[in-house]
Amino acid sequence: MPALNRLLRAGAASRPPVSAARWWLSSLASSEADARVSERLARRGLPARRDPGSRNVQWVFLGCPGVGKGTYASRLSQLLGVPHIATGDLVREELASSGPLAQPLADIVNQGKLVSDEIIINLLSKRLETGVAKGESGFILDGFPRTIRQAEILEGVTDIDLVVNLKLREDVLLAKCLGRRICSQCGGNFNVASIDIKGENGRPGIFMAPLLPPAQCMTKLVTRSDDTEEVVKERLRIYYEMNCAVSSSNLRKLNDEDEYQT
Ligand code: AMP
Repeated sequence: MPALNRLLRAGAASRPPVSAARWWLSSLASSEADARVSERLARRGLPARRDPGSRNVQWVFLGCPGVGKGTYASRLSQLLGVPHIATGDLVREELASSGPLAQPLADIVNQGKLVSDEIIINLLSKRLETGVAKGESGFILDGFPRTIRQAEILEGVTDIDLVVNLKLREDVLLAKCLGRRICSQCGGNFNVASIDIKGENGRPGIFMAPLLPPAQCMTKLVTRSDDTEEVVKERLRIYYEMNCAVSSSNLRKLNDEDEYQT
């Protein structure tokens, strides 16, 4: 969602008396249902808007499946002392439970489709609430938002300091998803793919060494059920589809914003 970066930058620019981006977003997110969802999210854990200097970082990592959001977000979260919250992990925890959502979620995830905004917001709200109860503050969100509505709801309830949108070419994304391994004991994420693409026609080469597990994890590696070639291709297709929707919607927003300012 590169457009979200521009959208958030536009929202952050000082444009008194009211940010046109926020005006546009709030007009879109003003349905009663969205207001209820935003309220739940805010009540359960997202801090109200505050001076960024007086709180921990609130960052968002976006990008295609397999691009490395989780790897970078988890390393940075350790350095910055903030939780790394991946909505994909929340979905997988729910899948592994014996709750009523487990089977319907498994069907959606194993087809490479997106889970509904309601379910995702609910899982995220609960996760934030648990974190706040444990004294957590700040966050690096990974894989959220993934739809325009999720972005609107997030933008409506708190401030985001930084959005990082990671990109990689599609053949590398596929290889990285197929090479992904998780240790069933410690939960560590690894990757056995060895990427070595020569630069050509002025384009730089890409070299990514495998991220191999330590010896004690080697025999306990498992593959995610949605990391098959067919499902990864469907996840990438949906990602590009949503990305285009956000880009064109953002262009509309920027045009509206220009009109609003004149
Ligand atoms: P991930 O680990 O980020 O690849 O997510 C795994 C799966 O969880 C996705 O393919 C979706 O089915 C679901 N999921 C994770 N995050 C979201 C989200 N923000 N919105 C909708 N579905 C999500």
